[in-house]
Amino acid sequence: MKYSSILNYIGGEFIAPSNTNTIDVVSPIDGTLLSKVTLSSTVDLDAAVAAAKKAFPAWSKTPIKERVQVFFKYKTLLEKNLQELASLCSEENGKTMSESVAEIEKCIELTEFATSLPQLVTGEILEVSRGVECRTERVALGVVASIVPFNFPSMVPNWTLPNAIALGNCMIMKPSEKVPLSCGRLAELLQEAGLPDGVFNIVHGDVDIVNAICDHPDIEAISFVGSTKVAKIVYQRATSNYKRCLALGGAKNHLMVLPDAIPGMTAQNVAASMSGCAGQRCMAASAMIGVGDVDSIIDKICEEARKIIPGENLGPVINKASQEKIEQYITEAEQQGAKILVDGRNTKVFGKENGTYVGPTVIDFVTADMSVATEEIFGPVISIMRAKTVDEALAIENANPYGNAASVFTQNGGMARYIIERASAGMIGVNVGVPVPREPFSFGGWNESKFGVGDITGKSSIEFWTKLKKSTIKWNAEAGVNWMS
Ligand code: NAD
Repeated sequence: MKYSSILNYIGGEFIAPSNTNTIDVVSPIDGTLLSKVTLSSTVDLDAAVAAAKKAFPAWSKTPIKERVQVFFKYKTLLEKNLQELASLCSEENGKTMSESVAEIEKCIELTEFATSLPQLVTGEILEVSRGVECRTERVALGVVASIVPFNFPSMVPNWTLPNAIALGNCMIMKPSEKVPLSCGRLAELLQEAGLPDGVFNIVHGDVDIVNAICDHPDIEAISFVGSTKVAKIVYQRATSNYKRCLALGGAKNHLMVLPDAIPGMTAQNVAASMSGCAGQRCMAASAMIGVGDVDSIIDKICEEARKIIPGENLGPVINKASQEKIEQYITEAEQQGAKILVDGRNTKVFGKENGTYVGPTVIDFVTADMSVATEEIFGPVISIMRAKTVDEALAIENANPYGNAASVFTQNGGMARYIIERASAGMIGVNVGVPVPREPFSFGGWNESKFGVGDITGKSSIEFWTKLKKSTIKWNAEAGVNWMS
């Protein structure tokens, strides 16, 4: 085992969970046993919540300008430790080193946004009646929780922790049991940056600990990022316990390619979007709709896909179960009459025979009723459908239950605008394969890709992590009496 067993982080200390049942943390690159993670119990969660509760009065009363100083230092530490954080991310998740570096760079950008919060949270004030003013201010919620998925071991935790904590909350983080290492390192950096003990805590585990978080009476708000199936469970359970909840789910993102699209640029974007992070991105292109004759562009997409080499510029998928599931989708599509133009099944990487690789896969002549057209595959696979008109393409896009992202490739601005207005997704790209809004713009999908109000990052997150206090004040008794006095 390369690393020692993973511990919870509670009240500023790494502590062994009270349970003894562990699961293996295995690198998808070559099957190396990296560590073991213990599935915590409610006893551990209670301890973390108690530590967070204890830290909350002092932290929430610390002026925000002082609180963000921790995040200026944290940002510097992320920069200083970028390579080490990236290799840990790559080891446990499998993504390539350059993808992991990009992930840590995104953490830095998210932290930069948090340091700007004092500029964004100023309240409002107005003299509403003679001598009477109303003012508003943003107040921290208390103890909050963040439950995160496996596909971005560092970035998704950093979607929530800098903003929630800079805004005065104390947090319990529940990492994915598949990639639990990176979060521990983030905790060390936060401590080094001067974050007081108990403000940030980590409790490892799986289903049981997520349920316990949803039920805990002292947790005020929960953010969740993961599959739609679990997002629904968490949203329902958390809100039925009267908690604030924002739950981001899965995706099936459509790229619409029009005949006037620039062939080379479009092909590169489609191939990069479907294969980046081995297709394990909620913003990955999973379906493409060719409008009219785009055969020459599809040829170029295949050329680009063949340049993507497993083990070189393509990492493995997270585990064997995922590899098998993706291959099954491809086989099923083939059996139903689709044509596999580039086939990533049965991929082996020399020297990494225990790695769980799926090569880039391009499937053409997919019809809207096939499961590769409707379900989230979460692998480096693109399912190509054909449409005669833009409206037909939009009908296919609109019919899918998700709504994270959609993109159009065209040189016609009017047509791009037409699609922006009609696509049913929260994040739209024009000639962009992965239309992730960069800070300060917020991240969040629609439909079955998100449950709850607002987005998870950017200004929208301020609403989620705070509550509004409204004061009506008469400073000056001599101002006279009126209906408000
Ligand atoms: P997942 O839903 O399996 O797990 C997410 C978290 O929920 C993990 O911490 C896990 O321990 C916990 N969990 C798993 N099963 C549970 C259950 N039955 N009850 C309670 N908790 C449970 O997701 P994953 O496989 O880790 O991540 C991949 C998924 O996340 C994909 O669907 C992807 O699209 C989605 N995702 C969405 C976004 C977004 O912004 N919309 C971002 C990243 C990932």
